[in-house]
Amino acid sequence: MHRLVLIDMSHRVNISEFSKKIETSIMKITSAEFIKSAVLPSQYPPATLPEVAFVGRSNVGKSSLINALVGRKNLAKTSNTPGRTQLINFFAVNETISFVDLPGYGFAKVARAMQRDWGKMIEAYLRERQNLALVVFILDIRRDPSEDDLSLRDWLESYRIPYLYVLTKADKLSNNQALNRRRIIEKSLRLPAVKGIILFSAKTQKGRNDLWRALQDSLHL
Ligand code: GDP
Repeated sequence: MHRLVLIDMSHRVNISEFSKKIETSIMKITSAEFIKSAVLPSQYPPATLPEVAFVGRSNVGKSSLINALVGRKNLAKTSNTPGRTQLINFFAVNETISFVDLPGYGFAKVARAMQRDWGKMIEAYLRERQNLALVVFILDIRRDPSEDDLSLRDWLESYRIPYLYVLTKADKLSNNQALNRRRIIEKSLRLPAVKGIILFSAKTQKGRNDLWRALQDSLHL
């Protein structure tokens, strides 16, 4: 009996030491700068740093998430005007990681021709970018994945690009509601059990450390 208690205690100590270690290993952001905007692959900056691309439908909270990750208010521009020329924006974080803000999709009012352009631009990026290490696929926790979301997922799968899901605006729901929505979304994405999904809020910073850990793991940092 005594022995069992002792074993249990040491197990606890190990876990807490382990999580403390993980806590301290989150990257400290020392610099975050805009590099350039591009449409065509010939305009992309050199593929020297490992790259993380952020993608999701318009208004999903992509800019807010990027800003929360790097701890800057306005690095990525929030609430883009629909119909505006859409560009791929490149940033350098700590001079060691490249962040890419891919244009949002799914604005009902955007003309079909423009949606086609969006598709071409994103497909070219996903196909061509050699240093792309991970796509952060952002969904609004309150909404079911749209047809566009599912098409993007199929692209990522067919190009075998590593990606993870982030469900953002989690602060808008109670913990129970959030877990419930997570289950529903996992089901509609037909998510394999091993696939990562992170609950996030730019408002409360919930999930920020989990997301950084996932990025660092993917980039081997
Ligand atoms: P983007 O178009 O995907 O870049 O989305 P934005 O980052 O501009 O966000 C769209 C709207 O959602 C803005 O009004 C944000 O303030 C709001 N928003 C974004 N993230 C969150 C979040 O985590 N929590 C809450 N409550 N609002 C958010």
